Amino acid sequence: MDAYAAKPVLVGADAVPLNANTPRPSRDEALKAVRTLLAWAGDDPDREGLKDTPKRVVDAYAEWFEGYDADPAKELSRTFEDVQGYDDMVLLRDIEVESHCEHHMAPFLGKAYVAYLPTEKVVGISKIARVVEIFSKRLQTQEVLTNQIAAAIEDHLAPAGVAVLIDAEHQCMTTRGVHHRHVSTITTRFTGAFKSDPALTERFLKLAKG
Ligand SMILES: [Zn+2]
Repeated sequence: MDAYAAKPVLVGADAVPLNANTPRPSRDEALKAVRTLLAWAGDDPDREGLKDTPKRVVDAYAEWFEGYDADPAKELSRTFEDVQGYDDMVLLRDIEVESHCEHHMAPFLGKAYVAYLPTEKVVGISKIARVVEIFSKRLQTQEVLTNQIAAAIEDHLAPAGVAVLIDAEHQCMTTRGVHHRHVSTITTRFTGAFKSDPALTERFLKLAKG
């Protein structure tokens, strides 16, 4: 557990891990919980096709929520200072977002676009994508996810500005409830120069979606 998990928007010295008061149940308890859901849905958990389903679901959960056991701060801790005067934006486009909404545990899928304006520190670009992945692989709202990515980059790279845009479809909205197919949600977070300089914001949006 890292500091970002506890404070949805920013880190704080008083950050407490999310599961501090709820110790993690055993794998066996998780298997039983899935079995209960299968029976509750109306099926027979003992029939052939469902016999191994609890095991498969628990394994899938371990993968979908592996972000709780990873630390974005660690990914961003190795920075490089020799940028040879490069001072324009670094922009990553089309980073896959595979997350789950915290209200329904339903997937929301889309893309993230992340840019920052380096001052003296840059980070390996794969690390930015990894930070998106770590925060995505937790129960999220798209708004908080957007803010957490920006906050982590801000904290570790001290850039002149950060821009994050996420464009995603929420299956809790497309496959249930209102059943609005193909509605996508866009969230953005701009800091520093991306916030104060409309021309820069514009350039980011153009490059991101272009
Ligand atoms: Zn939802």
